[in-house]
Amino acid sequence: MGSKMETIPELYGSLVFNDKVMKERLPKDIYKAVHKTIANGTHLELDVANTVAAVMKNWALEHGATHFTHWFQPMTGLTAEKHDSFIDPQANGSVIMEFSGKELVKGEPDASSFPSGGLRATFEARGYTAWDPSSPAFIKDGTLYIPTAFCSYGGEALDKKTPLLRSMSALSDSAVRVLHLIGNTGVSNVATTVGSEQEYFLIDKDLYKKRKDLVMTGRTLIGAPAPKGQEMEDHYFGVLKPKVSEYMHDLDQELWKLGVPAKTKHNEVAPSQHELAPVFETANVAADHNQLTMEMMKKVADKHNYVCLLHEKPFDGVNGSGKHNNWSISTDTGENLLDPGKTPAQNQQFLIFLIATISAVDEYADLLRVSVATAGNDHRLGANEAPPAVISVFVGDELAGVLKALDEGKDFVSAGKTQMGLGAPVLPHIMKDTTDRNRTSPFAFTGNKFEFRMPGSSLSVADPNIVLNTAVAEELDRIYDALKDVPKDELAEAIHKLLKEMLDEHKKVLFNGNGYTDEWIAEAEKRGLPNLKSLPEAMPHLISDHSIDLFTKHKVFSKDELDSRYEIFLENYVKTIHIESLTMQEMVRKDFTAGLIAYEKDVTKEALDKKALLPESGCSYETGILKQLGSAEDKIGTGLAKLTADTKEAEKDENALSAAKYYHDTVLADMETLRAAVDSAEALIPEEYLPYPTYGELLFSLR
Ligand code: ADP
Ligand code: MG
Repeated sequence: MGSKMETIPELYGSLVFNDKVMKERLPKDIYKAVHKTIANGTHLELDVANTVAAVMKNWALEHGATHFTHWFQPMTGLTAEKHDSFIDPQANGSVIMEFSGKELVKGEPDASSFPSGGLRATFEARGYTAWDPSSPAFIKDGTLYIPTAFCSYGGEALDKKTPLLRSMSALSDSAVRVLHLIGNTGVSNVATTVGSEQEYFLIDKDLYKKRKDLVMTGRTLIGAPAPKGQEMEDHYFGVLKPKVSEYMHDLDQELWKLGVPAKTKHNEVAPSQHELAPVFETANVAADHNQLTMEMMKKVADKHNYVCLLHEKPFDGVNGSGKHNNWSISTDTGENLLDPGKTPAQNQQFLIFLIATISAVDEYADLLRVSVATAGNDHRLGANEAPPAVISVFVGDELAGVLKALDEGKDFVSAGKTQMGLGAPVLPHIMKDTTDRNRTSPFAFTGNKFEFRMPGSSLSVADPNIVLNTAVAEELDRIYDALKDVPKDELAEAIHKLLKEMLDEHKKVLFNGNGYTDEWIAEAEKRGLPNLKSLPEAMPHLISDHSIDLFTKHKVFSKDELDSRYEIFLENYVKTIHIESLTMQEMVRKDFTAGLIAYEKDVTKEALDKKALLPESGCSYETGILKQLGSAEDKIGTGLAKLTADTKEAEKDENALSAAKYYHDTVLADMETLRAAVDSAEALIPEEYLPYPTYGELLFSLR
């Protein structure tokens, strides 16, 4: 815009109503009140809200905004917004620009069409949105965006942010109690931190438009493999293509303006696949920023004549996309609780939080699996490229040695031969570098945080973090309850004993080997670890007693809220596969068949012409092609008829769970059979006959 180039620090956050802006513009006492609300989650008085609203409005107007919107994250997994302008018509025919504290704090979108899983039927049809002051407002496309939580009039959560905030506060309460008990009394609040590495595919927009499957479902439903895949490993961290590089540059700029701390970008394993990682932030802000990142990835792609695919498995036989959820907890005194310290007290504190997390992952493995279950991600988990559906924890050799010594009640001897007594444990300084990374582990300790690698690329990071926070809060409560009456001078010994017990109970979840092998899956079964392969198999765990006890105790979900989510997730699964089936039927029946027939016609004509010219020719090459196509056609005909009939049958089932199971066991299986037949024929047909681009064109066309 301006004539002079903006520097990055000038650009960064320039469209965000952040702490810096508030400090500059709000009266001191108001700024303090807002800060207190953000730090402690306390209620904001209306007069404070009025002042903030007025200042926010003026700032927004100066930055060209004309509208405001409460921005929320309903159960669709996407974001939602309804824009209101600031104008307030006056009696004399003019307008003034108005924005009140009430409008800032609460909104009432007519939201009756968002999924509620039956929740709103029992209450009022309307919902309301409530300002989340801990996630900063920002301006996008001339509108002031106010991050909010979305609830029913009865206060039930209808979104992903409300339970995330509840789980963060549950974890904070439980962590602070334990910290105080072990003498770390300076801490009054603990925050969950999240950094989410986002994978995505970029493909050419014109090619995309020609594929109904990509347009309707986000993934290819048919398509023979390209001659080249990812086997050369020449794409991973490879040189960025100039146009792709321009895209990434543009994306960074847009994200920086919105205060999204985009940090790292690189090519991924599959052709046309890339990754963006931000600097970590508080979980709810990270969740908002990840939603913005996904939105901007798509929007900026459009400008560059690309389409950004966020589906977990856009291409068969090519790596899918995930979203690694890096997670830690840190205190308001600036300590990362998963950072192994240097002093015995820090070490003991670290071991408490480490073992609480390991225990939580083991105890609630099924719920973590549920939290990443989507129709798309089911294609990824266990597909020899992404972590298996079995959850295990990787801690690295050094730390595994420490835990083993603790478990056996022995001293720990580090690789550097230093001997350490665990009674007053002094840990080796655990290396933060990449020496013993295990990329095949679904849940890996990576120096001072855990990396959960099961989430799919399109998932809201709220989902896994709700479970993680609540489960760890529960384990910390167990620790607190076991220790609260122990006299001070016996505490260190009691902690040692308790951690040993917990480790003994949960060490079955620890696994440092290759998670992609069949041997591990067999071993995991022996250990009794759950292996929930699909969403319909996993989802009943969400409404088990174990789950209800956990979430209601920590006030993260009520039983009704869990029931509603269970319904929504199953319904979403059913709808997704239903659309995929219909799209596939249409594509095979029309697009593919048109190409097939056109080619067969030409080959037949060619054979007949040849025969006329050279009567002695057997035309074995042409008839060979026609025979091969013919045998595939038989299978395609039967496959298509079966898929059509089974999908009609599926439509009749009104029970969400049995319908989901049927879609999984029957409809998806039909789709696979049909696809195999179609792909075998497609491999014989030249590109120019097909009305849609092939895998080779889709994956290798970017410059
Ligand atoms: P990689 O896993 O690709 O080697 P890094 O380990 O540097 O990369 O970081 C991956 C992600 O983890 C980044 O988004 C980073 O911000 C995030 N991260 C680093 N420390 C923490 C933390 N304490 N809490 C949450 N996320 C973190
Ligand atoms: Mg990573």
